[in-house]
Order: sequence, then C-alpha cells, then structure tokens
Amino acid sequence: MRKKIVAGNWKMNLTLAQGEQLINDVLAAGLHLQEGQEVVFATPFPYLVKAKALIKNNPGFFLASQNSASEKSGAYTGEVSAEMLQSVGVDYVILGHSERREYFQESNAVLAKKIDLALANGLKPLFCCGEPLEVRKAETQNEYVAKQLEESLYHLTAEQLKNVVIAYEPIWAIGTGLTASAAQAQDMHAFIRAQIAAKYGREAALNISILYGGSAKPSNAVELFSCPDVDGGLIGGASLVAADFVAIIKAL
Ligand code: PGA
Repeated sequence: MRKKIVAGNWKMNLTLAQGEQLINDVLAAGLHLQEGQEVVFATPFPYLVKAKALIKNNPGFFLASQNSASEKSGAYTGEVSAEMLQSVGVDYVILGHSERREYFQESNAVLAKKIDLALANGLKPLFCCGEPLEVRKAETQNEYVAKQLEESLYHLTAEQLKNVVIAYEPIWAIGTGLTASAAQAQDMHAFIRAQIAAKYGREAALNISILYGGSAKPSNAVELFSCPDVDGGLIGGASLVAADFVAIIKAL
C-alpha cells in the first residue's frame, strides 16, 4: 500500500518563532494519523534543527528541506549539501520545484544529480514536475511531464525509485488560486503512474506516491485526494495557516 502524504512547503516565509508556533499548533490539533499517512514540514534551512526537535516523538511527522546542493561538498558558498541535511535529521528533500527551475535555472540534468546525492545520503526526494500554462493550452502537458520524469528519474534503479515521491504541480496553479480540477489532476496522475509502470513495472507504479500541488486548500482537498491516483498534496500557501493545514491533512 502506498503512502498518503501531506507536505507543507513554507517556501521563504515565516520567522523561526512563527514557524515554531505553526508546528506546535498542528501537533496540538490531535490528528490521528493512520498507518501509511505522513505529514511533512518543509521548512527553510535555518529552522530544520529546531523543527526536528519539535516533531520528534510524533509518529507520522517528518521533516523536509526545500532544496539541496548538486555537489557533494567543498567550495560552494551558500549551498547546503545532502549530507549536511541528513546529519540534522532531515527525511525528505523537495527537488525540482518550479520556482527553483524558473528562478535558479535548475535543469532536468542538474536535478538528476541532486536526486542521486539525496538518495546516497538517505534522503527521500520529493520530486516536482508540472507544465506551464502555454504547454497546458497547447495540450502537450503529457509529453512535457514525461520528459521531466525521463531526464531526472529514469537513470534510477527500481530499488532507488522506492524512496522517491513525485509531486505533480501544474505551474499555472501554483500560488495563483487556480486549481487543476480533480479530473485534470487525476488524468495527469494516472498518466505519470502509467509512465512509471512502462519503465519500472506495475508494482513500482502501484507503490509510488504521487502528490498534487497547486492552490490546494481545505475547500478542494477532499475532492482532489479522493481521486484514485492522487496520494496527497504538496501545499504552499495553505500550509502557513495551522487550521488550513490541519483541515487538509484531515482530508487524507
Ligand atoms: P500553493 O503552492 O499551494 O501556494 O499553490 C504549492 C507549491 O508550490 O508547492
């Protein structure tokens, strides 16, 4: 049975005190996570150590960074390596977010390197893919996403792929208030799963979690998460408000 995950991507938001409050509020909400359900906080780098201390002893709660370096170690001022993240107890790393691709020129090839380093250091990549609006309008989103998967993931073995989570995030839906309809999300998630099946076989495809991201909120989470191929969400804006994030987790 594949995992159901709700991950909150804080992006470059909140002070340490605000972040602590948010985590404490979510932990205090009395969520009863079931077997196979996970909640992930993707905090900014400086808060990871503190966040780890807050969530420890709370089964089902995990920690993610929002990026990691494409090099192992050395003279890369300002970068944070997968090994460093592992050493402070990080579980997941978001890689390939469209904001990283767009503003920091991260290519599919660079992401493949980051994924390798993450896996080599025991971190689980939460790999983001998704098309911009022009591509959706031209109805070539399947080809676009297939290429992202191929160029960043398909060098992995089936064994390595077991530690990867995919997030489908149509760029036109991120932070825009526009959500993909449940049917649009389901179509793409089923397509991604079929691609994984074609490359890695049916079992690998059935076991990989595919999250939806892009203006997910309490009012649409139930509908999105009830799609058979949607295994949870990567939540931006709505993860910054404890009540909203808790409501989305409950939608699992
Ligand atoms: P959003 O962001 O929920 O604010 O649209 C999602 C994301 O970028 O991960």
